[in-house]
Amino acid sequence: MSAENTSGAAALPDAVAAASLTDAARMRRAMAQAAEAAARGEVPVGALIVDAEGNEIAVGGNRVIGDSDPSAHAEIVALRLAAAGVGNYRLPGATLYVTLEPCAMCMGAMMHARLARVVFGATDPKTGACGSVLDLSAYKVLNHHTAVQGGVLAQECGEQLRAFFRERRLLKKTQQE
Ligand SMILES: [Zn+2]
Repeated sequence: MSAENTSGAAALPDAVAAASLTDAARMRRAMAQAAEAAARGEVPVGALIVDAEGNEIAVGGNRVIGDSDPSAHAEIVALRLAAAGVGNYRLPGATLYVTLEPCAMCMGAMMHARLARVVFGATDPKTGACGSVLDLSAYKVLNHHTAVQGGVLAQECGEQLRAFFRERRLLKKTQQE
């Protein structure tokens, strides 16, 4: 094997590792939004949007209870902020990070926004629309803009949700006693 081939073979894994490090760092920013949601008594789901250049353009946390709005999922909150910020309902080239697998409503909105990429953490066996319950991204007729990737910090994102529900159950139990 020539030296040229050796360096070529090493370059690809390095690039992939750097990309996943960036994804993990951005997912942690989304997790901080989820923590803020939990502090407000909302189910902890958080989102972050970066533009095509990788600049952070919006964050959002779940606020369905506080806003009395069934559509106020973290992704929608962040999408509204990002779109208003750039003055365009389409966000081509942008990537959205969210701590929990998006539901059908959010996937629909993100496809309308023509995001380049959606990255999520934990899977959602109850309402996940990226493969868990249904897979909207697989319908090429609906989606030819947005790539979907799951499993980034899945364990940590899932634990954040489980801890929230554990605490809430405990609180309910002590209130009943
Ligand atoms: Zn949703």
